[in-house]
Amino acid sequence: MQKILNYINGEWCESASGKFVPVLNPATGGVLAEVTQSTKEDVDRAVQAAREAQKSWRLVPAPERAEILYKVAYLLKERKEQLAQVLTSEMGKVIAEGRGEVQEAIDMAFYMAGEGRRLFGDTIPSELRNKFAMSVRVPIGVAGLITPWNFPIAIASWKSLPALVSGNAVVWKPATETPMVAAEFVKIYEEAGLPKGLINLVNGSGSEVGNAMVDHPGIDLISFTGSNEVGAAINGRAGALLKRTSLEMGGKNAITVLEDADLDLAVEGILWGAFGTSGQRCTATSRVIVHEDVKEALTEKLLARIGELKMGNGLDESVKVGPVINRSALERIHEYVKIGQEEGATLLTGGQIATGKSLDEGNFYLPTIFTDVTPDMRIAKEEIFGPVVSIISVRSLEEAIEVNNSVEFGLSSAIYTANVNRAFHAMRDLDTGIVYINAGTTGAEIHLPFGGTKGTGNGHRDSGVAALDVYTEWKSVYVDYSGKLQRAQIDNY
Ligand code: NAP
Ligand code: MG
Repeated sequence: MQKILNYINGEWCESASGKFVPVLNPATGGVLAEVTQSTKEDVDRAVQAAREAQKSWRLVPAPERAEILYKVAYLLKERKEQLAQVLTSEMGKVIAEGRGEVQEAIDMAFYMAGEGRRLFGDTIPSELRNKFAMSVRVPIGVAGLITPWNFPIAIASWKSLPALVSGNAVVWKPATETPMVAAEFVKIYEEAGLPKGLINLVNGSGSEVGNAMVDHPGIDLISFTGSNEVGAAINGRAGALLKRTSLEMGGKNAITVLEDADLDLAVEGILWGAFGTSGQRCTATSRVIVHEDVKEALTEKLLARIGELKMGNGLDESVKVGPVINRSALERIHEYVKIGQEEGATLLTGGQIATGKSLDEGNFYLPTIFTDVTPDMRIAKEEIFGPVVSIISVRSLEEAIEVNNSVEFGLSSAIYTANVNRAFHAMRDLDTGIVYINAGTTGAEIHLPFGGTKGTGNGHRDSGVAALDVYTEWKSVYVDYSGKLQRAQIDNY
């Protein structure tokens, strides 16, 4: 049995706990490997190594740090297929999406390597004569990364690459369900020549390892992606310690379809957004807000296409919908379907755990569509994180925007319309961190900021230049070359 270990101070090692848990393939129920379960002591060792390594890393010129990131990028590219296979085996998403996710990490590596020759600050005129002013980005120290299973390598790349290029060291706890691709990613950092101690992988549970990281005085910031429940708890603990947190959490994303929209195009966007990754994307389409005049036509077109969504093991190239992550996710999704029925929504298709040859051993849920959903129903408000979409009908663009914005989350939204004026109104008024016009709710590119408003986050962004704000402090530097005391705001007025 393959053993997945920790990587601390440049050594692959097992936790002294001696405990391992199995890594399961969600499509088959088979055991792929077992992963070491760490304790607070492992976190201590990782933090110590990181602190020590960061002392000299911060002095390495950023373009030189970036040389290693370029090597990481090329290694990721070389191993794209192998990484995608591992990812799909342990996480379940179909292989085309697995490849797409690895590509996101490749893109991020090249992009952040480029930052090694930018990391721009500003030069700003001083208000005094013979004085020079500038702002520079400086690393914070040790970044603690806590990541989810649904994008196990993309999200890790969004966080570790900007942390490292800007001169920090990293302690990373991946999700318990996806330690294999995490280990492969760290191996690439190792092979690229990243000095020991700069990336430390500590496997284990959120309660044991995650909490120890949040509470550790040697970790300066926590970058977290996951559920609101855990994010809020992390923020409370870290806040009391005045520790920076960057939180990316849930979504309840909607596609709005206006009466002037290209309905066939909208159907493509809905199928991809709602059922891709079996609905387990933070940007998944979980509501369709449709103008009443085209509700029937859109629904018919959707139902006509649902049969194309072949379910099965994501390693099979012909499969369109893979499993959900585990048994408890399967049960939670089914629970929401029952809630929807009790609330009076009409179940159009799906609504069941999928059964049949080759599906029984895995965690498969049928693509599910509800209609006659109203914005106050729980299925219209709460994140389900599975292949379930709710159709809500409205009478105008204004009402659509109001419904879109009525949820506590604000990650992604989309609108299909042929009218440029209405598109611009929507761009202005949809209260989400990401807005798509004539495309579904998923499809972020790594060089733009990624994140959400309201309950989705706490104002930070992963990816894009904005990511650097999470991993750096601003330092304002004033150089007075006048040779005398010059008092700002006083001597010049
Ligand atoms: P989760 O339960 O919050 O887990 C996320 C990570 O936090 C895992 O590594 C988990 O460890 C760890 N964790 C759990 N309890 C912890 C604690 N008390 N202290 C510190 N860390 C702890 O989320 P999930 O169910 O895996 O992922 C699904 C959620 O992620 C959804 O809500 C989804 O919307 C969100 N998500 C958001 C984005 C975004 O960018 N906005 C992207 C992807 C996913 P274990 O694995 O050991 O439990
Ligand atoms: Mg969890």
